[in-house]
Amino acid sequence: MEISENIKKYKSELPENVKLVAISKTKPNEDLMEAYEAGQRIFGENKIQEMTDKWEKLPKDIEWHMVGHVQRNKVKYMAPFVGLIHAVDSLKLLKEINKRAKNEDRTIKCLLQIKIAEEDSKFGISREEAGEILNSEVYKKMENAEVVGLMGMATFTEDESQVKSEFLKLKAIFDDFKEQYPSIQELSMGMSGDYKIAVDCGSTMVRIGSSIFGERNYN
Ligand SMILES: *Cc1c(COP(=O)(O)O)cnc(C)c1O
Repeated sequence: MEISENIKKYKSELPENVKLVAISKTKPNEDLMEAYEAGQRIFGENKIQEMTDKWEKLPKDIEWHMVGHVQRNKVKYMAPFVGLIHAVDSLKLLKEINKRAKNEDRTIKCLLQIKIAEEDSKFGISREEAGEILNSEVYKKMENAEVVGLMGMATFTEDESQVKSEFLKLKAIFDDFKEQYPSIQELSMGMSGDYKIAVDCGSTMVRIGSSIFGERNYN
């Protein structure tokens, strides 16, 4: 199927309260433009350099999301334009985001990445660590970085019951945090292979790449 058809399919299929982040990493600008012309405005990338190159060339009403692991020394490159950083996993990183956002005279929205998968390779922090960040005086004083939700990735497995239990675990943390911290509103979970389960489990934001743009070629 064509990219534009895929965008239309997801837009009609997803519940109204679930945002579609089109994950366009490794894909050429023409592919992003095809999605754009079909009405897509939120794009997600996992490398700051690549996202910045695309931001420079593509229409300015695109909302850019950084979904990959972020190195602190590169925050400054995306600070002028990034719309949401999905994978914040330390107070140190949040401090850098706050500082760079202040330099740009803007506020940058962030999600805390919670580790829910069993695999060691997945990044993220525990519920306790996330709570410590949100309760810290350092965070409370920040004026230019705002935590608006949580993000998580389930284990890459065919076992749907495991994926579901991991998403439900994250949803429970989200509900609990949402009650304590009014700014927490977004729950980013679900990718091409597991977005249906994620939506059933209460996701407000799905990150879909290969089922929109086709398989990625990293060579
Ligand atoms: C690449 C990526 C996605 C999209 O994965 P697909 O399986 O292609 O949909 C989602 N989230 C993150 C963090 C990613 O790096």
